[in-house]
Amino acid sequence: MRTISLWLTAAVLVTAGLTTSSFAGYGGVLSGDARAHLEKAGELRAKGNRAAAMAVLESLLMGTARVGVTEDARPADRDVLEEAILRSISVWDNSIDDSPFVAASKTDRVDISVRFVDEIDTDGPDAQAELEAHRDFYYGKTHGFRLTAQILVARRIDGRLLTRDELTGILTHELGHLLGLDDDSALEGVMGPFVPGHPRLEPIRSEVNTVRQYRTSVRQSLRDLAKA
Ligand SMILES: [Zn+2]
Repeated sequence: MRTISLWLTAAVLVTAGLTTSSFAGYGGVLSGDARAHLEKAGELRAKGNRAAAMAVLESLLMGTARVGVTEDARPADRDVLEEAILRSISVWDNSIDDSPFVAASKTDRVDISVRFVDEIDTDGPDAQAELEAHRDFYYGKTHGFRLTAQILVARRIDGRLLTRDELTGILTHELGHLLGLDDDSALEGVMGPFVPGHPRLEPIRSEVNTVRQYRTSVRQSLRDLAKA
């Protein structure tokens, strides 16, 4: 059995002041990470390594990705985070037909863990959340992958705790990255910067379309590989 490992560059969610509201992007841009994985799958396929290419592509669809709170969470944090996890999972469930995200039950292994922190360590602008993910692949007689992701959320903004809606919007954004979306500057939809007091809980059409098209093309590539 051989293995390879690919990292998603840590993605940081920055906070925007409302003064940036005139600065609108288009939304729905596929991330560099998603493109890199597609390229990797193409290279593996070109080299005749069909099983490895399939493992990479299947990891992009994520199968069933269990989202949960880390075990060391304080009980009060756990309740707040679990509610926001359920709501952000619903957002994507309502937007795409094949959303991979499910809430982890107590006994499940967690693929995507969520935790509150006091602050996000970054050299860049103010960060409200951070996603780190990596995917391991194995291939040989069989093939498969393991997704491991961590979402860190700074619990405070402007000296107060995040509201439940703000937290839900932040998690929806981070799950959007895992679905292949990039950050953008749009203050509509879910992939733009975080605006305190103005949580955004619904992806816009361009974001939904990008995710749908991306997942459809990954599925098509998998079908092609299965026939090859
Ligand atoms: Zn982001």
